[in-house]
Amino acid sequence: MRWEEKTANNVKEMKPSGIRKFFDIAAQVKGVLSLSIGEPDFAAPDKILHAMEQSLQRKETSYTENSGILELRQEVSRYVDKHYGLTYAPEDEILITVGVSEGLSMALLAYTEPGDEVIIPDPAYVAYPAAVELAGGKPVFVPTYPEDDFKPTVAALEKVVTPKTKILVIGYPNNPTGTVMTREELLPIAAFAKKYNLIVMTDEIYCELMYGDTVFTSFAALPDMRERTVVFNGFSKAWAMTGMRLGYICAPKEGLAPILKLHQYAIMCANTQAQVGGITALRECDEEVETMRQEYDRRRKVIYQGLREMGLPVFEPKGAFYIFPDIRVTGMTSAVFCEKLVQEEKVAVVPGSAFGENGEGFVRISYAASMETIEEALRRMARFVKKYKTT
Ligand code: PLP
Repeated sequence: MRWEEKTANNVKEMKPSGIRKFFDIAAQVKGVLSLSIGEPDFAAPDKILHAMEQSLQRKETSYTENSGILELRQEVSRYVDKHYGLTYAPEDEILITVGVSEGLSMALLAYTEPGDEVIIPDPAYVAYPAAVELAGGKPVFVPTYPEDDFKPTVAALEKVVTPKTKILVIGYPNNPTGTVMTREELLPIAAFAKKYNLIVMTDEIYCELMYGDTVFTSFAALPDMRERTVVFNGFSKAWAMTGMRLGYICAPKEGLAPILKLHQYAIMCANTQAQVGGITALRECDEEVETMRQEYDRRRKVIYQGLREMGLPVFEPKGAFYIFPDIRVTGMTSAVFCEKLVQEEKVAVVPGSAFGENGEGFVRISYAASMETIEEALRRMARFVKKYKTT
């Protein structure tokens, strides 16, 4: 059988993930210090693991409700109200998903028809354009620039919007840049969404990981935005639960219903033990989340300082666990920079070009790694940059 002939065209045409490609190169080099991975180097808090163990002891091995255990949805409802000022009914406005990944894919499938355009800031998390394409839509990139700390402007959005535009996908704090948008900066984007009657899909998975005095604003909390916004959030980052695959969507009842319909057929429900762990995460782990956040903050300061000292222009990231320095002073493309860095100094970071055209000239460094790893990686990078710096 020639499987390739039978493979769906939109899958065949998908570009392989630039991150994956680079991981494969890095995997061939022994003893690499990795600052390339977008997941916590912590394990999930013990309280969560204990709750999951107890659930197994009770032999809770059945499916849950399609939209997730009601107690977890109630806990999500309480949590988003208390922490982000959002009001969603646990009964029909919250859906528990297999991570933000599932949530995004289902939501895009539910709302995208062939020819629909979906605006995505460039650079962006690699899954956004792929999920849009799989849903049959057309990703339309709005360029963002280092001069604006990679924040999209309404002027740039106005240039790419068309009568076919249906959805705007955003995600702050941002992967790969670490950019955060304040309430004041989001307000014009909200006005733009209203003007063109767009659905806004906002990936807020890093919202617990904010630094300095910038306050997190959920897009759905802006005036008039709740009715047109789908909020994605999850447990992977702040609670260090990546492998448990747990997330949630908050949206108005009519907005959530078509997504739930798809989720019922494709997924049935998120993993039962993960959901039980999620209840404990939201109910009892504020302190553990804060301890991890403080540790990321400590590392963020060290890495920001280190990059500046080696002469790489970089803006201070205010959220997530990424920093996005400008490597153009070396005269290399971001892919060449990363390949050479891994070969010559055994340090793995990700080419900015993996996140879109406007990521070219930058690299994504993750500080979800131990301080020891970060300090040694910085020493090696400094040597490398000194060797190749052209200006
Ligand atoms: N959204 C962003 C911006 C991410 O960086 C990631 C993971 O790296 C995800 C979503 C995936 O989240 P989840 O583990 O909840 O599927």
